Amino acid sequence: MLIARLIAEPDTLSASLEAATAQMEAGGVRVATAAMLEFCGQTLQIGSPDSDAQEMRAAIEAHFAPCDALIAQDEPQVPHVFVSDMDSTMIGQECIDELADFAGIKPQIAAITERAMRGELDFISALKERVGLLAGIDERAIRQCLDERITPVDGARALVATLKSRGCHTVLVTGGFHHFADPVAEMLGFDAVVANRLEIAGGKLTGGLIGPIVDSAVKKATLVGEMAKLGEGAISLATGDGANDIPMLEAASYGIAYRAKPVARDAANGWIDRGDLTSVLRLLGIDEKEWVRG
Ligand SMILES: [Mg+2]
Repeated sequence: MLIARLIAEPDTLSASLEAATAQMEAGGVRVATAAMLEFCGQTLQIGSPDSDAQEMRAAIEAHFAPCDALIAQDEPQVPHVFVSDMDSTMIGQECIDELADFAGIKPQIAAITERAMRGELDFISALKERVGLLAGIDERAIRQCLDERITPVDGARALVATLKSRGCHTVLVTGGFHHFADPVAEMLGFDAVVANRLEIAGGKLTGGLIGPIVDSAVKKATLVGEMAKLGEGAISLATGDGANDIPMLEAASYGIAYRAKPVARDAANGWIDRGDLTSVLRLLGIDEKEWVRG
């Protein structure tokens, strides 16, 4: 049974529910149950015994956008493991851009990012080039940058705290740096961190990295490794916003794209376009009364 859960604007939902159900059925999405659930009157569950996810997705996009949604093969459950990207997913910023701006080298860093986005540089080369430009920055400047500029995304604390209260293991995985990710993980309550490590000498960044580089493959491997530890039947949740989150989002039981780049959104089986990160809790069916505010 294909199950879609979605959260839309109340007006959109009430105005379009009947019409949407009829049009979904006309479009090949057979709706078995359409029951308004009682999470602020905004969460709709659609069960369809013989539709595929792409049909369901197209129907939802056509009738309920902008909405937050999750499409699953069965009734969504609380996951055993949660792996999330950091920059622009758990925090509202891109750490390397903020640090570059802080250090007065934003245009140089942006030029490399631009080349990477044009496909002229791969992720690892772009990362190494940008980190090279950070050489000479005082390590203490990172802490100051973090304190002054880095803010959690709305709902991030509640998402992590609530999942942990239900026994879920939580891992922050980022192509950014431990210098940012460790304090962010502590602030948000993550159990573990996988990140890149900046090399420091004499209290300053050398422009190099230590150890293996975290890229899209490592993000996916982190998720797969956590699932393997839990054994058969483990349910996983991943959240991310960028192209290098795609393999991780695809490998997860529930891959939810948060205010994401279109490529990442297309690859995920859930998306948050309108709400904050607590929408993930609603989509998983965790009642607001059970949320832990963190
Ligand atoms: Mg990101």
